[in-house]
Amino acid sequence: MNFLSIIESKRDGQTLKASAIAEIISAYTAGQIPDYQMAAFLMAVYFRGLDTSETTAFTLAMRDSGDVLKFPDDPRPLVDKHSTGGVGDKVSLPLAPLLACLGFRVPMISGRGLGITGGTLDKLDSIPGFKTSLTTERIMQIVAEAGCVICGQTARMVPADKGLYALRDVTGTVPSIPLIVASILSKKLAEGLHALILDVKFGAAAFMPTIEKARELAQAMVALGNQCGVNTRALLTNMDAPLGRAAGNWLEIKEAVACLESNSAGTRSTVPHSSLTDLRELVLTCAAHLLIQTGKAKSIDAARQQAEHCLASGDPREKWNQMLAGQGTDLTAFNRKLALDHTAPVVVELKARSTGFISRCDARVIGEVVRDLGGGRLTKDSVINYDVGLDSIAKPGESVSVGSTLACVHAINQAQAEAAGARLTTAFEISTQPGTATPLVAEVITGS
Ligand code: URA
Repeated sequence: MNFLSIIESKRDGQTLKASAIAEIISAYTAGQIPDYQMAAFLMAVYFRGLDTSETTAFTLAMRDSGDVLKFPDDPRPLVDKHSTGGVGDKVSLPLAPLLACLGFRVPMISGRGLGITGGTLDKLDSIPGFKTSLTTERIMQIVAEAGCVICGQTARMVPADKGLYALRDVTGTVPSIPLIVASILSKKLAEGLHALILDVKFGAAAFMPTIEKARELAQAMVALGNQCGVNTRALLTNMDAPLGRAAGNWLEIKEAVACLESNSAGTRSTVPHSSLTDLRELVLTCAAHLLIQTGKAKSIDAARQQAEHCLASGDPREKWNQMLAGQGTDLTAFNRKLALDHTAPVVVELKARSTGFISRCDARVIGEVVRDLGGGRLTKDSVINYDVGLDSIAKPGESVSVGSTLACVHAINQAQAEAAGARLTTAFEISTQPGTATPLVAEVITGS
């Protein structure tokens, strides 16, 4: 293969053959293409784009750069959800056990956070003993037994993306729709799924700042997912404000558990039920769409009822424990930690200085505050603190009066808590009028 002439072809706006794309990915994965040439190629793609057939070839070549999970026949469809990332987005945590209880198998391969968006694996790492790094064999076993697993990519899954994503990160080529589509879908296609729901976020703290860009990305992923035989839908969801009331690894685990307990009578919950609305709403919406996508429900209303009923039964809360135990958790230590009011040394309340309605609760500022408290990463090598973050976050539309809590800062010391509190005041705006509510799910892209 003459890679230089391929770079030149793409630079000049030509369409590449699927066979050339497959060769590029296979040679890069084998270490036969130097990073400087691959960087030039990625920049050519960034400016010239890839058409539908090239994007398909790129995605499939990446999927096939490593192992593809092959699950045995089973009446339970294989499903998953992927979010483009946000602040306080812990939907995957309650969703996986809920889906397992609804009769699905869920091989949820998740990622770590970078910058202001949190990562599901970092949140799970705050659970005593929980293992996010599993072999393919163990993933298959837990899925067969518990119905759901949430873990990292094995070393043998989609190795092409590991190298390419790291290179894109340092060459300004991340925001290219065909490259994002190929990166996300190659990993999801390697799970051997029947159906996939995508949560494509837009707004202040989202990867895609506008709904138009989010729609373009969602439409491309939905079209390609369906073309590759995975029933794929996307929700376009607002990320101007954080999801739920907690942002920070362990604090989000607590909120996810509270969501699983939100309707089951007689179980203890450390977070008031009324505060779980948007998180619970998104969990149920994702589950409802997957029920429709797999033919397990005929209408969205019926699907929604089925999901609500299942969540209320308390079974997903039990399933969560089963998944945790399967992934190495010491449940006694977990329950002991769950019972603690806080695990960070210092907790400081940020109070409202006026009376009115929250008109802005900026997820970007909140994400930055959590990262700077030590809860997120500035670089891939940053060591994160699992206990810090925010909870009791007041949400847009809610009424507050002087002295009401806007958020509680969990920090490693008083100085950091005060610095976070000062920065946080810029995240909130209080108006005299309630304002108009923005819908959490702005659009559903079904691909038909
Ligand atoms: N997430 C991914 O996995 N890949 C991208 O390219 C962007 C976001």
